[in-house]
Formats: sequence, structure tokens, C-alpha cells
Amino acid sequence: ISRTKVVDLLKRRDFGAMVNVKGWVRTRRGSKQVNFIALNDGSTINNVQIVVDLSNFDEEILKLITTGACISVNGELTESIGSGQAAEIQAREIEVLGACDNTYPLQKKGHTMEFLREIAHLRPRTNTFGAVFRIRHNMAIAIHKFFHERGFFYFHTPIITASDCEGAGQMFQVTTKNLYDLKKDENGSIIYDDDFFGKQASLTVSGQLEGELAATALGAIYTFGPTFRAENSNTPRHLAEFWMIEPEVAFNDIIDNMDLAEDFIKYCVRWALDNCYDDVKFLNDMFDKGLIERLQGVLKETFVRLPYTEGIKILEEAVAKGHKFEFPVYWGVDLASEHERFLVEEHFKRPVILTDYPKEIKAFYMKQNEDGKTVRAMDVLFPKIGEIIGGSEREADYDKLMTRIQELNIPMKDMWWYLDTRKFGSCPHSGFGLGFERLLLFVTGMTNIRDVIPFPRTPRNAEF
Ligand code: ATP
Ligand code: MG
Ligand code: MG
Ligand code: MG
Repeated sequence: ISRTKVVDLLKRRDFGAMVNVKGWVRTRRGSKQVNFIALNDGSTINNVQIVVDLSNFDEEILKLITTGACISVNGELTESIGSGQAAEIQAREIEVLGACDNTYPLQKKGHTMEFLREIAHLRPRTNTFGAVFRIRHNMAIAIHKFFHERGFFYFHTPIITASDCEGAGQMFQVTTKNLYDLKKDENGSIIYDDDFFGKQASLTVSGQLEGELAATALGAIYTFGPTFRAENSNTPRHLAEFWMIEPEVAFNDIIDNMDLAEDFIKYCVRWALDNCYDDVKFLNDMFDKGLIERLQGVLKETFVRLPYTEGIKILEEAVAKGHKFEFPVYWGVDLASEHERFLVEEHFKRPVILTDYPKEIKAFYMKQNEDGKTVRAMDVLFPKIGEIIGGSEREADYDKLMTRIQELNIPMKDMWWYLDTRKFGSCPHSGFGLGFERLLLFVTGMTNIRDVIPFPRTPRNAEF
């Protein structure tokens, strides 16, 4: 009999059929006569119940059916009364594919997230991380679907690059030091070759600049790939390696950009509710009773759109009324997540798109406003997280862009290719970057960004 996945098995109603299922034992309980095995194969949050009449099986086999063991079961599909599912399996034959002894770290339930992070290589086997990673997959599909349906092209920007898009000095440098193909001199001594690319190369912090080249050729593109930032501090919303989605669209102004961001997030949230309801419901019931309500809420709400200057006024008024923030708030400051969350959670009780930030706290490429002080930036702020999107209309005017580059002392020799977009047929265009893991924090209700990526990379953590 060929294998049926648990997700498909639980939908079947052809009771009496012989089936085969393979998976990992979650629990085993029962009496001296009958045992019930909860078996999971990762295809769904739900387990299939295997009913085992002990008198039909060898003691040797039964001994090996422990939590974590991998087994293959042939049996009869029957209607279930007690398992919480419509179907279960009456076991006829059981083969132990991989035994699991009592040093298995996941034998008991209810581990802390901190402990599970230490066994990141095994945590996908828990219900929680199974749910999170199935949702992560589904969100990736939703992202491609959203853009593809709207005629955007998926464009691959380089991971190794020489440009520091954000100018924030958070780049990891690429070197050939200590690799196996080291060059040696005539005496056999190693020559360290740091000059593979002929200039200092780094891991990308954003695909935006290259994305702009593409948008000014293909019209509408998006990138979706790994992004690297040497984040110094340990926060629950920063990783050293994360995935970013960056659409870039020719002829879009800042309003179009905000519309796109809002539509995009809502599409992804709707996708999660429509396609991963069991997993979302599990996380809702386990960790965050308000999750489903929050997700449904976002679909109904129109995001608030507000200039930074107005946002600062609201925050200053809150301080005047006695609200305590850890970090000071005044016009010109880059908002901390506590400020962003105050606007969203306390003041508006809806997602907020904050626009027109002071140019000093934003990157060089943003379109400058008439006031000479602000730029056409937009950050999308979400409950519990703060910023999930940063974007802007780009400066399309060659002279203005040049002036800004000079003011900030950005080495021109690094920017000539980028400036060519403004030199040859410049066009208005806009785009944004969404941190994939920040979106996942929202959709899964997890509270630490390390728990929505399989292998979190943070300071002093690159083992597995
Ligand atoms: P933050 O203020 O949280 O440090 P940022 O303003 O530095 O974020 P941007 O340069 O605007 O980030 O990048 C666009 C998006 O990428 C952010 O809105 C966020 O969703 C995501 N992002 C940025 N840095 C990280 C990180 N270290 N880990 C995970 N996601 C990140
Ligand atoms: Mg940052
Ligand atoms: Mg920011
Ligand atoms: Mg930002």
C-alpha cells in the first residue's frame, strides 16, 4: 500500500480501506489491552490516532514505540469516536523505522521558547514550530502570488555587493580568508587574498538600489531574498540574517506606494486565514487568544495615514500627560519601537502609516519635500512589533540626488551606476521593504523574531 499523508488521511471517509501512514510518535497512552498512538507526519498540525490491540503485536516492537520514534503503520481506516478527528487507523502491522531513546529532548510537552531555541535543529518537530513553518511557507507563496497577479516581475538582486544601500554601516564583509583555496607564495606561506572582487565586497543589506535599476526597465518588480545586517543589539525584532520583500514600481508616487503596502499586507493576512487556519487556530489557542481577532481586524481596518510631524505631536502630548517612554521623543528623532507601538496600540488602535520623516534620519535616496526638511518616506507600523515596512518615493531628480550624496559624503565612485537611472530617462518611482519575519510575527502571534525563522542568526549564534 502506498503512503497517505496524515493531512489527506484525516479527510477520507472510505472507512474499511487499508492504508499506510508514516510519521513520528507524539504520544502513546492506553490500557493493558489497547494503546492509542498520536502520530504526526508534519503535513498538518493534526495527529492521526493509531489504535493498537496489544495482543496482536510483539513485545519487542511495542517497546520501541516511544515518543519521537518514527514508525510505519498499515491498518484499516475507521470512523473515530474519541480522537477528535473523523478518521483513525486500526493497526494491523507496525514497523519501527527509527527508534528514539529517552535522551530525546522533546519527550515532554510545554518547553520554553528559550529552551527550544537551544535545540533549533529539533524544534520543527514540535506542534508550535510545525505550525509556524507551515505558515512561513504559505506566506512565501502568497507573496509571489500577490505580485505575480499584479504583473510584477520577480527580480534577483545580488547577495554579494559593494554598495551600502542604507548607509548604516551594518554590513558583513566578504573575505576569502581561511578558505581552502588559499594562495601560497614560493616558500609555501599563505597569501591572504582579501581582494577577490577587486574592492571591498559585503553581504547585501537591501536589494533596493539594484531593484530601482530593474523597475526603471521592467516597470514593476519585486525582490524576495535573504538580507544581512550586523545588528549590534539583541532585540526581539532584529536578526542578522532575515528575508526582505522589496517591490519597486516606476510611475508610482508615495500614495500609490501606501496603497500597495496596505493591499499587500491584507492579501497576506487573508491568505493565512484562508489557507492555514488550523495552524493559526492552534497558535491562537496555545499562546495568543487574540490572534485570530487581530488578523480579522486588520482586514476590516483602513490604516491611518499621518505625517511624522503629527505623530511627534501626539507622542509629545502623551508625555505631557504623564506617559513614560524609555527614549526621549522630539521632532527629528528616529522613533523607537515603543513610540511606534504607542501610536498603533494606544492612540489609534489601528495600523499606522507614518509619512514625511525628517531627511536626516532617512536614507539619501528618498524624494525631498518642498519644505527642505522632510522626505517622502513611509513606515508602516503594526501592533506588538512597530515598524514592519520602510519605504519611500525615490528622488528622481539627478541634481537633487547628487547634492544629497555630496552632503552625506557618499563616495561618488561607488554610485555612478545608480545615478545612471537618473541620467538616462529618469522617472518617478517608489518602493518599500517588508521584513518577512516581521510579517510572520504578526501572522503567527509569536513574540520573538527568532521563533519565526528556522535558523536564527543573531550575535554569537551561527551554530545551526
Ligand atoms: P528598524 O528600525 O526596526 O531597525 P530599519 O528602519 O532599520 O528597521 P529598513 O532599513 O527600513 O529597516 O528595512 C526595511 C524593513 O526590513 C523594516 O521595516 C523591517 O521590517 C525589516 N528589517 C530591518 N532590519 C531587520 C532585521 N535586522 N531583522 C529583521 N527584519 C528587519
Ligand atoms: Mg535598523
Ligand atoms: Mg526604522
Ligand atoms: Mg526603516
